[in-house]
Amino acid sequence: MSLSKINTILEGVCERSAPNLGDLVFLLSLNEDEQVPLFDFADKIRKNFVGDGVLLRGIVEFSNFCRNTCSYCGLNVNNKKLTRYRLSTEEVLESVKIISECGIKTVVLQSGEEDVYPAVWLGELIKEIKLKFDIAVTLSVGERLEKDYALWRKSGADRYLLKIETSNKALYESLHPGMSFNNRLGCLDRLKGLGYQTGCGNIIGLKGQDLRHLAEDIIFFKKHDFEMIGIGPFIPHQETGLRGELKGDPKLALKVLALTRIITKNTHLPATTALGSQEKDFRADALKSGANVLMPNFTPLKYKALYEIYPGKKCITEDGSSCLGCLEANILPKGRYLDFSRGDSLKYKERITTNV
Ligand code: SF4
Repeated sequence: MSLSKINTILEGVCERSAPNLGDLVFLLSLNEDEQVPLFDFADKIRKNFVGDGVLLRGIVEFSNFCRNTCSYCGLNVNNKKLTRYRLSTEEVLESVKIISECGIKTVVLQSGEEDVYPAVWLGELIKEIKLKFDIAVTLSVGERLEKDYALWRKSGADRYLLKIETSNKALYESLHPGMSFNNRLGCLDRLKGLGYQTGCGNIIGLKGQDLRHLAEDIIFFKKHDFEMIGIGPFIPHQETGLRGELKGDPKLALKVLALTRIITKNTHLPATTALGSQEKDFRADALKSGANVLMPNFTPLKYKALYEIYPGKKCITEDGSSCLGCLEANILPKGRYLDFSRGDSLKYKERITTNV
């Protein structure tokens, strides 16, 4: 396929309000030489819609307990080899203090899905964070009751990440024993309804997934108009049902990322840690293929290795504050800069303005 033909297809995909599945499958199947125009196109759209800044989100993984058995995740409840931990209020606040002292204006509070800690505990923690620090709070704690989501929103939480992992119902339910695809969708709707800036995302290279599934994921992202979308390759973990499966292809993940940028325009797209945890650090490539967010990890050092969703996770032996210099020196492409603003969703701002 000639490069000019690829560019014509890219123009069409970019302009159309409803993406064509066949075009997406075709673009996802581009070979190594042919994919350069795709990445360049995505980079241009990124520059036009979200600029050159790379937003920072400081992650605190406050608990690795989980009640679920997702077949790709090392935190699954059946992994009895994993030492479980939960941070105290003081430990979380200390981590947020370090994030704030680094000048970062978003903390992502992440945990496995558990209902052992009371929703009220997390609500009080959010209130205390908002009282003490000038910082946006993103939650990533899974499927909970609407009243819990409402309580946390009322306590001051700004954003919520709930990845779908795959938008195909049958594939989703085969990978998530005992969980319901419809409930996942319901949670995403409820979060949006409560006014959270809502994030989603998928995993590339899951068992049973093909290019058509990935194209459908991108169409799903567009349809739901998420404010953030995290895209990362599958990495098999020994203590999961998918041990022994092949790793997801990071280059295919970059193609999904690039197309997501072209189609969703101003969504915040992280260069995910899973992309960094490969034989080379693909986060730099991601930033040149549409990504505009980095998420340094500020979980206290003694717990970092225990939040092992997949093995070989990047940056678990450094503390978060030393990450910034490293990201700037090794990951940032030329002409890009670390952006220390809150980085609220541009879509959300549009939506609020439209509704006024
Ligand atoms: S992906 Fe999330 S919900 Fe599933 S086992 Fe892992 S931590 Fe639990």
